[in-house]
Amino acid sequence: MRAVVDKDTCIGCELCVSICPGVFSMDGEGKSDATTDIPAEMEDDTREAGEQCPVDAIHVTE
Ligand code: SF4
Repeated sequence: MRAVVDKDTCIGCELCVSICPGVFSMDGEGKSDATTDIPAEMEDDTREAGEQCPVDAIHVTE
């Protein structure tokens, strides 16, 4: 699984970080970053973060 954050779209609400802090973190510019190596046990939370992002900035591919 891979998750990519579209930083031009991200509004820095930090919701993805609160849902899945093991994968998402805030960068120095107030935008979310996703780790490239997503552990299997975090895949459900990663999908959830992608669904909950208010501006659809997280793109998850299986
Ligand atoms: S939930 Fe979406 S808008 Fe909010 S920080 Fe994460 S990627 Fe950005």
